[in-house]
Amino acid sequence: MNYICLVEDEQKVAGFICKGLEENRYKVKTAKNGEEAEAFISAEKFDLLILDVMLPDTNGIDLCRKVRLTDQQTPILMLSALEQVQNKVSGLKAGADDYLVKPFHFGELLARIEALLRRKHVPATEDHILEFDDLKLDTWSNTAERAGRQIVLTAKEYGLLELFMRNPNKLLSRDYIAEKVWGIDFDTGTNFIDVYMNYLRKKIEKDFKRKLIHTVIGMGYIMRAER
Ligand code: CA
Repeated sequence: MNYICLVEDEQKVAGFICKGLEENRYKVKTAKNGEEAEAFISAEKFDLLILDVMLPDTNGIDLCRKVRLTDQQTPILMLSALEQVQNKVSGLKAGADDYLVKPFHFGELLARIEALLRRKHVPATEDHILEFDDLKLDTWSNTAERAGRQIVLTAKEYGLLELFMRNPNKLLSRDYIAEKVWGIDFDTGTNFIDVYMNYLRKKIEKDFKRKLIHTVIGMGYIMRAER
């Protein structure tokens, strides 16, 4: 049974996460602040840490940095109330492995946790870099670069890009994308997919000659290199 340390001062949020994890057969210990967290982490061995960014006596990013001084192995997932690219970048720079924005669906949290725990058991030699044409994606740090130039992506843009990188030359329908990236069926229609696809394409194609993702009218999108 995997043992998780959850560091979250908001009781309602902590209770919700804790209950969900326990229902999924995880053992959870909750710390209400940085001081308590440090005491728990130094006393026991956890399989994964969940750190909220906003804590009463410190912030999750500093806490993460501190943990990483002595422990580079345990997966760390950061939680933040705001989708701030800066927070995400700081968190990942501080050594966090993944980053989730509140509010989130519990299923998404669970999926991230499972992915992090799986990754832990993957031999270090397994390639975590996905490549397509001159685009590279690092699935450990969730960062992208094209022709050596770093591209800053939001969590959803990253999720979209990873989906395409894992399915090159395949036509992906909007419904499929919605299900894979957002994890739920949308009954409100899937126009928002086009909005996100435009954001993503601007970021990865704007300054470059070749388009990588193409619209297939009435069908969806495909990642394909055109020479
Ligand atoms: Ca908090």
